[in-house]
Amino acid sequence: MPRCQIAGDGKHVAKRILVVEDNDLNRKLFCDVLKANGHEVVPVADGNNVIATARKFAPDLVIMDIQLPGVSGVDLIAELKDNGDLAKVPVLAVTAYAGKGDEERIRGAGAEDYLAKPVSIGPFMAAVRRLVGE
Ligand code: MN
Repeated sequence: MPRCQIAGDGKHVAKRILVVEDNDLNRKLFCDVLKANGHEVVPVADGNNVIATARKFAPDLVIMDIQLPGVSGVDLIAELKDNGDLAKVPVLAVTAYAGKGDEERIRGAGAEDYLAKPVSIGPFMAAVRRLVGE
């Protein structure tokens, strides 16, 4: 897939989006929706590969599940935000819990925005568009 694709409307520029989500159905849903909107997507199911994959892929946006096996998405966000060039990449967190303490922890780690699961497509794409500057 070309790295800088211009879609048919002439003004939409494809963004590179890293999708970190261990749940197969959610990961497929996020990736399908983003691809349908013209974006280039790299899925990561294993939280241990996030930083290395992000360095390689150099994403414009990271979608970050918070509940990952063996590692917290909050810690991964903090690690991204402490990582040179990656620190500038906006992070959209998605979480099954939406308690006030959780939101503060997630935002405190550096996430630009967050959505509670179950995630609906409309708010999801609205958040993506806002974070990639469309
Ligand atoms: Mn999960």
